[in-house]
Amino acid sequence: MTGDSVRAAFAIEIRERYGDVARNRWPVAVSPLPDELLSSWLHRLALANGTAPRSFAGVLGLGERMWSPRLDLRLPRHVATLLGHQTGRATEEISAMTMSGCAMAPLLLPLRASSHRSRSTWMQYCPDCFTADEAPYLRRQWRLASRVSCFAHGCGLRDRCPACHSGIATFDQCELVPQHFCARCGFDLRAAPKAAVRASARRLERAIADICRVDTAKGLIKISDAVARVLRAPVAAEVRSARTLTNLSSAARIRCFEALASKPPDWLVKDMDGADACRRWMILAAGSHEALIARFADFLEGHQAAPRPKRTPSVKADRSELFGAYVRLMHAVGARA
Ligand SMILES: [Zn+2]
Ligand SMILES: [Zn+2]
Repeated sequence: MTGDSVRAAFAIEIRERYGDVARNRWPVAVSPLPDELLSSWLHRLALANGTAPRSFAGVLGLGERMWSPRLDLRLPRHVATLLGHQTGRATEEISAMTMSGCAMAPLLLPLRASSHRSRSTWMQYCPDCFTADEAPYLRRQWRLASRVSCFAHGCGLRDRCPACHSGIATFDQCELVPQHFCARCGFDLRAAPKAAVRASARRLERAIADICRVDTAKGLIKISDAVARVLRAPVAAEVRSARTLTNLSSAARIRCFEALASKPPDWLVKDMDGADACRRWMILAAGSHEALIARFADFLEGHQAAPRPKRTPSVKADRSELFGAYVRLMHAVGARA
């Protein structure tokens, strides 16, 4: 067999197989990663199949600006069906990557393609997460204004490219480049300088995340009390540039959380009834719901053999006593940090 006939046979064989596969499915499968946002998965899917994200919008029959972040908020049924058909994944699994129906939705950063530096962009990122990722991807948690730091790396989240100051614009990427490269200037976002966040602000952030989670888990009201209070956090922190947390840049929200961490958390408990306020105080004092449960478990273990106390403490604990305990705990934690 000559070289030409080998190439011809080989080429025909590949084309036949490719046709078989691509008729029903895109050739390269991409598995969603933990907490991955739909738009992030779509960008990786596009790239793996040799299409730049901007052109991939056309493949899905979409032409709007910020096409993929829009899908994160609302995934039309026909697009979900097409994606399911072409990737072989269940539409439920695809829908689970969106933010639609999320109880924390009021805290989502608004979709802005560009904005003034003190204002929010639609997406944040952690440079260290990108560095640690085998395939760098965007997390659903990074869409929330209540998130200012990375729980894994302890650094502040960033919302702009440090070289050109643009927000993340992976939906506009017209080259076959992974999403940790700035779509505007090509800067490798893994090399972005670390943003510092005080330990007290990170602790408050984690407690707030848990308070919102506990509050929204009740699922009885459209917008939970905790989410509404967190949205107004800039007012409590006396930040002048905006009254709503979702409007502030990541850097401004870090400063806002640092200011709040140095104040008594009255803004989170004011005008609440005793039991609910007490629960929030305890989560704030313990640092997280998990830490609170762990302390409670330790307490129970230590008292298992002890006789039942004669008197159970009143739920309506005195607020000044609670605050005194909170301050002592915060000081003790600060001294250990
Ligand atoms: Zn990280
Ligand atoms: Zn850039």
